[in-house]
Amino acid sequence: MGEYLLEISYLIASVLYILGLKMLSGPKTARKGNLYAAFGMALAILATIFLYVDEEGNKLQNHIWIFGGIAVGSVVGWLAAVRVKMTAMPQMVSIFNGMGGACAALIGLIEFPHYFGHGGSILILLTIFAGLVIGSVSFSGSVVAFAKLNGNMNKDIRLPFYNIINTLFIIAIFAITALLLVGTLTDPMYVYLLALISLAYGVLFVIPIGGADMPVVISLLNSFTGMAAAFGGFLYGNMAMLTGGILVGSAGTILTVVMCNAMNRSLTNVIFGAFGTGGAAVGPGGSGVEKSYKEIGVSDTAVLLNYSQSVVIVPGYGLAVAQAQHVIHELEELLEERGVSVKYAIHPVAGRMPGHMNVLLAESNVEYDKLVEMEDINPEFETTDVVLVVGANDVVNPAAKNDPASPIYGMPILEVEKAKNIIINKRSMNVGYAGIDNELFYHEKNSMLFGDAKSVLVSLVAELKTL
Ligand code: NDP
Repeated sequence: MGEYLLEISYLIASVLYILGLKMLSGPKTARKGNLYAAFGMALAILATIFLYVDEEGNKLQNHIWIFGGIAVGSVVGWLAAVRVKMTAMPQMVSIFNGMGGACAALIGLIEFPHYFGHGGSILILLTIFAGLVIGSVSFSGSVVAFAKLNGNMNKDIRLPFYNIINTLFIIAIFAITALLLVGTLTDPMYVYLLALISLAYGVLFVIPIGGADMPVVISLLNSFTGMAAAFGGFLYGNMAMLTGGILVGSAGTILTVVMCNAMNRSLTNVIFGAFGTGGAAVGPGGSGVEKSYKEIGVSDTAVLLNYSQSVVIVPGYGLAVAQAQHVIHELEELLEERGVSVKYAIHPVAGRMPGHMNVLLAESNVEYDKLVEMEDINPEFETTDVVLVVGANDVVNPAAKNDPASPIYGMPILEVEKAKNIIINKRSMNVGYAGIDNELFYHEKNSMLFGDAKSVLVSLVAELKTL
């Protein structure tokens, strides 16, 4: 009876994961989707703790350890989640992902002595070693990614011949795994060596990658963790773990591909290329030629917006840092009341993680229909009176289209230069994430509205109210 209940719980958990994932595809249902998946996970864990019976008929005994671990993990996770700033989400995702990888690797380390040298089939051993290797790579890679995104490790470290070194590590991992499987290596120490080499590879794999490519790497590591967990599920014959792992693995892979497409870069180029290292990056005035730009004040901006028919707001990373999502919504409502049509142009990699702008604006109750994807808004710029760029830079940089030498060349961008007027709000002429100057700042149609996004928008709203 207990066994059936366990299987039914796993089935319900798997269905909840799938429903949850489906709901995550839209901001209106995302919160609920997250809860569905979390509930599925809780069900799977509790069912395993209370209903699992091994081949000899034993139930799980060590409840104190298990619930102690769950309590510590829950408190740490809860505190981290409620305290995290929106701008620090990518590093939190990264470290949580690393924990998943570590769990999958630990499963391999705990389970291999039961099978290795004790008649375990090649399939079982392969499952264990695959989980161990992929989980270890994911763990150490995620820790490095966390350190980079958190600003603890600012430099992209490129060892001489790093591509060759990394390839040698991969060959070593495959060779040791193969020799362990065919029985040439019989000492369990080689399994620990395999884990160590995998950990080292995770570090070497992530340290040279820099700049805007980090989220792609995180999403790739996320898919690794999913795969490693799926191997664990396969090993234990645990359907909920298998389904969860496969869903994370495939969702991570799809996200990786989507992000690569949004930046017009191949995955091999991300892993072996040199984007974001600053090689071709040029700061303002870096060309040596002094370029001129126009400035605009808050009151002139208010007048211009007030008398426009159509305004498109381009939110970027700066909007998130300034926490200006609520006041931008207020500005939008105020303009709408005055008959101005307002839309938001959403670039797929605006901010520091995919969907960053959608999440941010959903938080301040901006209607989802007002968020327009890049492909749909680009043809509309020509008929737009004013584009208000708030804390965005790279995603509107025309160099992506015009300058083959630019590190972002080929990345699809929001073509705001086609609008009748452009206003860019940021604090200075400084560069954005990719570290390159932006021709748009010096465009004849553009005016710079300097200042912190939140304080400028607050003043703009106040000014508009007086008109
Ligand atoms: P950028 O980083 O290009 O530009 C953000 C701009 O915001 C900066 O130039 C900065 O200028 C300004 N800013 C910072 N703080 C404030 C503030 N308080 N008030 C007003 N402005 C501020 O951001 P984008 O969103 O345009 O582009 C995203 C970049 O990040 C792209 O290069 C993308 O590839 C990359 N990326 C995207 C990922 C994703 O998956 N979404 C992942 C990783 C990277 P100033 O200092 O002058 O104020």
